[in-house]
Amino acid sequence: MSSPRKSKGRPHGRLRATTYLVVGGAAAVAAYLTPEAPEPARPVVAALAESPRAVEAPLAPVWRSRVDTLGRGETLVAVLERAGVSRSEAARALQQTDVLDPRQLRAGMTVTTSGMSTDSMPAEIVVQPEVDRVVRLKYLAGAWKAIEERLAWRTDTVAARGVIASSLYETMHQAIGRNLPAPKRSELVWKLADLFEYRIDMSRDLQKGDSVGLLIERRVAPDGSPRDAKILAAALTVGGKPVEAIRFRGKGTLGDFYDQEGKSLRAAFLRAPLEFRRISSVFGMRRHPILGILKAHRGTDYAASSGTPVRAIGEGTVIKAGWSGGYGNVLEIRHRNGFVSRYGHLRGFAKGVRPGKSVGIGQTVAFVGTTGLSTAPHLHFEVLVGGQQRDPRVALRDKSGWPIERREKGAFTALRQRLLAQIDARSTGAPHLASAND
Ligand SMILES: [Zn+2]
Repeated sequence: MSSPRKSKGRPHGRLRATTYLVVGGAAAVAAYLTPEAPEPARPVVAALAESPRAVEAPLAPVWRSRVDTLGRGETLVAVLERAGVSRSEAARALQQTDVLDPRQLRAGMTVTTSGMSTDSMPAEIVVQPEVDRVVRLKYLAGAWKAIEERLAWRTDTVAARGVIASSLYETMHQAIGRNLPAPKRSELVWKLADLFEYRIDMSRDLQKGDSVGLLIERRVAPDGSPRDAKILAAALTVGGKPVEAIRFRGKGTLGDFYDQEGKSLRAAFLRAPLEFRRISSVFGMRRHPILGILKAHRGTDYAASSGTPVRAIGEGTVIKAGWSGGYGNVLEIRHRNGFVSRYGHLRGFAKGVRPGKSVGIGQTVAFVGTTGLSTAPHLHFEVLVGGQQRDPRVALRDKSGWPIERREKGAFTALRQRLLAQIDARSTGAPHLASAND
């Protein structure tokens, strides 16, 4: 495709063509691609080419591409100028096509300009403003036209498996590895903990030697980079007992997670009054310095920084919100089944939390502090049954969810077997795990 513009009599055709050949030192990425292809390759990688200086004197006209990169704080017009497009022509190209929002152009974006070697200016400008969007500006019959192309995302599944050595966090980061970028790995670990928050107090119940298997569905960008993931299934062994989470969408529902028996993982009570991600001992499972002393009384202590939100473990009514001796600021909630949950050493209470008020499950009701008999910020948590302190692990055990509908049981069982088989196959056969750890 040759441009008719040469005949338009641009005075500095020759000069432009020269510039076109020599630029590129500063940008470092600028390079010429080989002229075989009539259409330039996608502007993803800047290929290295022979030094333009090797090119001598008159050549037969060839189609040529040049790849450059938009610098930080730089305008597209500036990049196009480097490619031999005059400022006014670049502005005209952008105006006539009107598909590139300057605010969406990010630094590092590649800009490919192509044209016949004999022409003073490129006849095509290709940019990729988003990972899945390519815009081609073509000079056709005296005007610039835009052709937009959408690149396809894909999804795939990845299995990971690990045995807890130091913490859930560490284990899963290693098992998932490069299958996800680091921030998304963290997010996934928190999601995993959230999944089981009605069943397992991840900060207490999970111990060395417990195992975690995970099957995730990833969204992969057109350039091959994984972007995020959702959990399809998780299979844990906690203290020798299996606990599963299978994502299943029954007819007419939004979908939810169910255990191996087809019971919803949601239940009447959360297993911990702090979000897993907010517990400061989560990372190394280190013991709280005063845990030993406080173990004398019946309760569970969670090390967390002062001000960390405390959540109601279940729906109920506030029966106490005030000072009480060694507990310092203490909150008590009576739940429907008669259980009372108690939260001590609080810095303060959430707005509107006072005796007689109703609270919902997971609602922020107070904030971690170090009031009363306490030497460092932590939450003291108790569950009382018939007025007696009971081990929350025992008291709250198996207050678990609604079963899946009978008519969906078959579909659920089939799905469960398929997902678990994928975890087993992939994580022992190891092609995926190997790539996760390389
Ligand atoms: Zn305590």
